Formats: sequence, C-alpha cells, structure tokens
Amino acid sequence: MAGHTPAIFLMPLAPYAVSEENSRGRQHQIPEATDRNAFARDYTRVLHSQALRRLQHKTQVFSSNEGDLFRTRLTHSMEVEQVARSVAKQLGLNDDLCAVLALAHDLGHAPFGHMGQDILNELLKDHGGFEHNHQALRIVDELESPYPEHAGLNLMFETREGLLKHCTQERARTLGDIAKRHLDGRAPTLEAQVVDLSDAIAYIHADLEDAFLMKLLSVEEMKEAPGYAEALIRIRQKNPDFKEPVASDLDHTRLLVRTQARAKVQSVVREMMRHSIDDMISNSKLRIQAANPQTPDQARSNPPLVGFSDGQQKLHTALRQFSRKRIYEHEEVVRVRGREREVLEELFRVYEHNPAAMDGYPLDDGEDLYRRLADHLSGMTDLRAHSEFRKWAMPGLDAAPAKKRSLR
Ligand code: MG
Repeated sequence: MAGHTPAIFLMPLAPYAVSEENSRGRQHQIPEATDRNAFARDYTRVLHSQALRRLQHKTQVFSSNEGDLFRTRLTHSMEVEQVARSVAKQLGLNDDLCAVLALAHDLGHAPFGHMGQDILNELLKDHGGFEHNHQALRIVDELESPYPEHAGLNLMFETREGLLKHCTQERARTLGDIAKRHLDGRAPTLEAQVVDLSDAIAYIHADLEDAFLMKLLSVEEMKEAPGYAEALIRIRQKNPDFKEPVASDLDHTRLLVRTQARAKVQSVVREMMRHSIDDMISNSKLRIQAANPQTPDQARSNPPLVGFSDGQQKLHTALRQFSRKRIYEHEEVVRVRGREREVLEELFRVYEHNPAAMDGYPLDDGEDLYRRLADHLSGMTDLRAHSEFRKWAMPGLDAAPAKKRSLR
C-alpha cells in the first residue's frame, strides 16, 4: 500500500555482512541479473534443482512409512530458512545468503536420515568415506548441471563455502580455497553461523512437536522436556487463563477438545522456540557490538559471534540430550532405522557387483565405481531406495541386465 509504514524496521546491510561488493564472486563469470542480487539468484538456482525436489521424500527423523504429518528434509529446510532470514534481518546480515544456505544445507543428505549418512560412510570407508556437507558442495558444483556452459550451479563463493560446514583436514587439503578455513581455523561467515544455529533451533523444536503429534511422547512426557515448564510460566504470565492440557483431553471423544489440547502443547513448543530465537538475536547483537567488526573478514577472525547466552546454551544442550534419549533412540524409531539399514546395505552390494543397475549404463572409461555409488545411493529418496530394494534384492534378479530407467 502506498505510503504504508512497514511494521518491522529492517536494518540496512551492516559493514560485517557479506555482500555482492565484498564477495569473491562466481567461478564462471556471468552477467548478473538486474532484478535481484547475486545471492538471491543463487537461491533460485537451488530452488529449481533436482536435489532440492528430492528432499521432499527424504527422512528428517521420522520415516515416510510412519505417517504424513511430520517434517521431511524439504519442509525442515524451509523452516530453517524462515528462522535464518528473520534473524539475519535483525542482525543486519545478508538474508538472501542466509536463505540459500538454509535451503541448501541438507542437499547432500542420504535417504533415511542421519543413519543413511552413517551407513554410507561405513560402506565407503575404504573409498574416501561419505560426508553430507561435502556431498552438498559436490551437488552444487558438479552433479546439478542445467547449464550447457559449465558443470554445476556456479554459485557465489560464500554460498559454496557456507555449505561446507564440516570437512576433515585430509579432504580440506584437496579442495583448495573453498575449504581453506578448515585448515587455518577461521570462523564461517556470520551468515553461515546464523544458518547453523537456526538449523539447530528449527529441528530441536520441530522434532519435539512431531514426536508429540506422533504420540511418541505423551503430554506428561512433554513436560519433562528442558525449557517446557519455563515456557508454560511465560505463557501464563501473559494469559493467566491458560490451562495445561491433561492426557484425557488428548483422547477425548470430542474433536474440539482434542484439537485445543494439542494446540496448547504446540503453543508451548512455539514459545520455547521463540524464546531461543530471541536469545540468539540479543546475545549475538551484544557479541557483534563488542567485537565491532568493520568487514566480514574481521568478523571471521573472532571466535563465532552468533550464539546463545550461557543460560540458553545450557538449556539447548539439555533439550538435545532429552531428544536423543526420548525421540532419536525411541524403540519405534530405532526399529524402523534397522530395517532401512538393510535396504542400503543390500543396494550397495547389488550396485557394487552390477554398476549398470544404478542408471542403466556401464561405468565410463576411468569412472570411479565408488564415486558413482556414493552419488547414486545418497541421491536417492527414501521411496526410490525402497522400490530399488524390491526390484533388485529379490533372488535371481540381481544379475539381470539393466535397462535405462532414469536420467540418473
Ligand atoms: Mg538440518
């Protein structure tokens, strides 16, 4: 609306923010768009990628066989983007860079959640191992190739560097400039730091909510989650009539009673999340003010400036421990993981003996079998892994001639 004052005051880009002006640019020079900045352009390149579309059928924590109301890797990435963008605006950082880093941060994940990466890493231990951050960089630099002029998405240096969140020293030595910070111990850009913490905030609260909605945690067990009781007190201070739901409300024969009871628990989880985001913003502002960096490089020569206060950090760590014990190691979650481990191990054996089974083509001259295996298996969605398992793991079929079935 003309003349309308925005409700939220947005800070201009701070001197310590990554910008087009101080960026190290792209590997291949292209004329930049006139309607959006280079990092917003990176965002659209990731948005249109096949690897991003695959995330809709990749497990975050709960497998797609277990229901359809919880997060997948794609919706998780969208939630991280939302948190990271709003924090970036409050800190005067480049929110377009935060957005593309958030959207792409899980691109390299294998099917079946973290277990998938652990198994691939085990299976490939004599062939360079598997690490999802490195795979994400490989995807945007090499595997996604929609442009005839060059391989990869040709993203900005800071986008690519931010995707390589972890990296072994051994691998870093082979990757050149993009991995240099892992050798000289420099902090990531503040934008990458924001995305990293936004990821942790987004998943820890989403997993709690999902576990409750899936009835892995009862309302009584939710009250044991670190920070839940304090969030309830804050809600009551604002709204003294807020009544805690009881277990029988969640099993009530009336839909309205059940819905309202669920919504109350969800509102407590939202308050927990709100509180940790507020803490992250105010504490990071203080640290940035104290360090007073004048360029992104100066910001990076400090220990990480984006972070929680000591009290919130303790709470966050305690909540992670709670989630590990009560959600990730829940017997139902562990049982499903066991079945999925067999799927990946069996597919690995099938493809190792019959590489053409992967995409219908024999190995190219000089092509590394284990590189193709890593790209192929990690690129699969949960659905594809299950259907390939049904196809190939049946007796007598594993040596069948492969037909061309897909682009991959
Ligand atoms: Mg994540």
